[in-house]
Amino acid sequence: MPDSTTQRERMVAHQLAARGIRGPAVLAAMRAVPRERFVPPELSGLAYEDTPLPIGEGQTISQPYVVALMAEAARLSPHDTVLEIGTGSGYGAAVLAQLVARVETVEIRPALAAAARERLKEYPQVTVHLADGSLGLPGCAPFDAILVSAGGPTVPETWREQLAPGGRLVMPVGPSRELQRLVRIVRCPDGAFSQEDLGAVRFVPLIGARGWDGS
Ligand code: SAH
Repeated sequence: MPDSTTQRERMVAHQLAARGIRGPAVLAAMRAVPRERFVPPELSGLAYEDTPLPIGEGQTISQPYVVALMAEAARLSPHDTVLEIGTGSGYGAAVLAQLVARVETVEIRPALAAAARERLKEYPQVTVHLADGSLGLPGCAPFDAILVSAGGPTVPETWREQLAPGGRLVMPVGPSRELQRLVRIVRCPDGAFSQEDLGAVRFVPLIGARGWDGS
């Protein structure tokens, strides 16, 4: 099997650049993070496949293309502070850490949060929070961008409120637990919100108070 660096080069060329991911910083970030360290050891041989993979508790590490697509859609800058909802394996947070100054990432499942915290020790810009991310992270707001890696029925009002002026929120929204549209919401400097549809996606469900099991 080719070494990990070579596999990443191929992933970037065939799965990302070939599908229209253009940002040099995003492509460099995807080239930098060893995805095999974020999947269960028995699946490390599949780390650069063009697919999500199981990480336990019925959850998945996102497909590389989706991680790159969301990072590009969030229009990140090096000084940004970012909130990621749904740490999962920690892979998305490690990619974001290449692109911005601070990453606050929230995971609701204790075992996944603990494992991700361990893997992300070498990324000092990242803090893993064990909490219900559907309520955002009021203590660390406002955020220049919020990236959500679980699909919810609606856009929680608390997330909009936690965006800085000019901030971007990228998330998968309804209509069912397994099938969503990726949307980008921008908080304009005048306080209004704009919303764009970026296409069909398939994420695991957002749970918690403002997720599928909320009231
Ligand atoms: N970015 C992750 C994707 C993990 S899948 C990665 O690259 O591995 C989505 C994650 O969202 C799951 O781990 C799930 O437990 C978590 N999640 C679902 N609802 C949540 C909520 N309300 N708050 C925080 N995390 C949540």
